[in-house]
Amino acid sequence: MARLKAISGLGRKSAALFLVEAGEQRILFDFGDGLEPGEHPDLSEVGVVDAVCLSHAHEDHAGSLMRLGEVGSPPVYATSRCFEQIPEALRLVERRIIPERGGFDLFGMDITVGQCGHAPGGVWFHLPTERGGFLYSGDCSAESESMPLDPFPRAATLLVDASYGDRDSSLSDQREAIIKAADGGAVICCPAAGRGADMVQALLSAGHAVWAEDCIAQEYEAAMGQVVPVVDGMTACPEQVIVTTSSNAEDGLSGALLARGGFRFLFSSHVPKGSPAYPLIEAGEAQWLPWNVHPRLRDVLNWADQCGADQVIPAFIDPASATKLVAGLGKRLVLEREVEI
Ligand SMILES: [Zn+2]
Repeated sequence: MARLKAISGLGRKSAALFLVEAGEQRILFDFGDGLEPGEHPDLSEVGVVDAVCLSHAHEDHAGSLMRLGEVGSPPVYATSRCFEQIPEALRLVERRIIPERGGFDLFGMDITVGQCGHAPGGVWFHLPTERGGFLYSGDCSAESESMPLDPFPRAATLLVDASYGDRDSSLSDQREAIIKAADGGAVICCPAAGRGADMVQALLSAGHAVWAEDCIAQEYEAAMGQVVPVVDGMTACPEQVIVTTSSNAEDGLSGALLARGGFRFLFSSHVPKGSPAYPLIEAGEAQWLPWNVHPRLRDVLNWADQCGADQVIPAFIDPASATKLVAGLGKRLVLEREVEI
């Protein structure tokens, strides 16, 4: 028998930390940090674990690695591209490289992984269980141009990225709105190792001249095999269309240009209240437009059917804000923090 205990990540957008107890083994899926400034997950009930499996390197999935000692300093399983994106200071862990698609052995269990469509080198995990299998999607998306999503295998229990709740608009429509909003120059903010390459490609395809921060230019070259010119805090000017980190102008080139002043900002990520983006958007001094990097409502419901799941646990969302999702899942919806899987 295997059990899931959601340490963090249910009920709202917060750090991803899901503990699975399977036989003698205790495995943590993701080891994220909170998104609001000063918000950190409570690890006191985790105890010693045997392994940490990382879906991808974003802060809310891997940002607590400096606290690995609090859970017994276990080995960390992740793809090599995921490890490359983790800040150097946090890389001093016992690393186990896993494939981006295929399988690996974890204490005698045949774990299956596939590309998640959300971050370069990001994966979902499937664990065989007596109850019919457990699938953890991590963050995932079916709509990225440069990052494919491998189909999920069958699983009786699906712990799925439902960050967008009832949002069902498609990236193809959102793309057009951002292309239009970029007319005349804009700083288009995104996280590292995320939507940057897709954004550059969409803006170029629409005829915009596009510049990028060096890290986004590298991602674009790796994904598309093409070059985009680089700007920095000294050379950027407000008439340019610039794709840059960080997603809410906390730091990176977007932070530097916000400090310089005179630039028009477009945001598209989750905006924590404590971030520089929040008051700008509230005051109408910056624009927020959606760009899907998580599943639409229709995707979550399709996957629940395709997996044959009889238990679906929507992660990273307050279910009270997602009435269509709750209705669509019906009896399959599981809201308990602890459940047999
Ligand atoms: Zn993510």
